[in-house]
Amino acid sequence: MSLDQNMESLFAWLPELIFTGGKFERELALVCDSSGTIVRLARVDELKGEKRINLPGRALLPGMINSHSHAFQRVLRGRTEYRTSNQADSFWTWREMMYSAASRLTPEDIYDASRMAFLEMALHGITAVGEFHYLHHQPDGTPYDDPHLLAKEVMVAAGDGGWGLSRDASSWSYARRRSATTTSDTVNSDSCV
Ligand SMILES: [Zn+2]
Repeated sequence: MSLDQNMESLFAWLPELIFTGGKFERELALVCDSSGTIVRLARVDELKGEKRINLPGRALLPGMINSHSHAFQRVLRGRTEYRTSNQADSFWTWREMMYSAASRLTPEDIYDASRMAFLEMALHGITAVGEFHYLHHQPDGTPYDDPHLLAKEVMVAAGDGGWGLSRDASSWSYARRRSATTTSDTVNSDSCV
């Protein structure tokens, strides 16, 4: 492959700003291969035959990490805080709502809520997430035949949203966007809200 052909298989993303070295820089291009892997940062005036993609008015930052997620809690959004003085909200009122939701969600609900949560994370620039899962029982409190059923729903939802999962040393689940690794290992914890 000639140098020109090689360059033509690369993409140069040209935002207004790129965050690198602790600050935003101008006149930089993010050069990626056809799989989306970052090859290098380059000065715009040093680009050669890369396909240019202009991103006017945009800034590029490294992917962010959500280090503490309970994906099913997506169903609580907007439901636990009050704007009027007639009702007071606190951690305890939030916790009551959280357990109310947690005790009603079916495996399908867990999947839907988790998939939405993971998709929204990706849309907002999060590329790695630590998922802490602690729901294991049916709405009536009895265990499922498969004790890891709900954790698996979360994992399938993550996979369907483009996330790869791996298990870290403490058995919490850790997911990275577009990771190549997946596992059927399940998360288990019961000490977090
Ligand atoms: Zn927590």
